[in-house]
Amino acid sequence: MKEKILVVDDEEGIRLLYKEELVDEGYDVSLASSGEEALERLEEEVFNLVLLDIKMTGMDGIEVLRRIKEKWKGLPVVLCTAYHHYKQDFGTWASDAYVVKSSDLSELKNTVKDVLSRSKEG
Ligand SMILES: [Mg+2]
Repeated sequence: MKEKILVVDDEEGIRLLYKEELVDEGYDVSLASSGEEALERLEEEVFNLVLLDIKMTGMDGIEVLRRIKEKWKGLPVVLCTAYHHYKQDFGTWASDAYVVKSSDLSELKNTVKDVLSRSKEG
């Protein structure tokens, strides 16, 4: 069965790009345009991984991450941002991986693959 990824980003272009690339990699991809929407989707459906933008209007990714880890402890979260400095930020420690946004999506795809295989090992 296909692994399910929830892509959360407030920019439509990014959502569609990630969806296209990850579907090509063989994943089942759902999209959410805000943190609030992401949390609703997680209530309705079981996902294998969340790809989460940090900088969003409304609830930011750090807050969404905190809530996810409170409620769905074992669910892997990969944070995405255009900014390197978040790597030092406290809130990002709870994420399973961290990817800096780039036009080259190979790092993103490799990270998703690694995190999913790590989470399967248990
Ligand atoms: Mg954003």
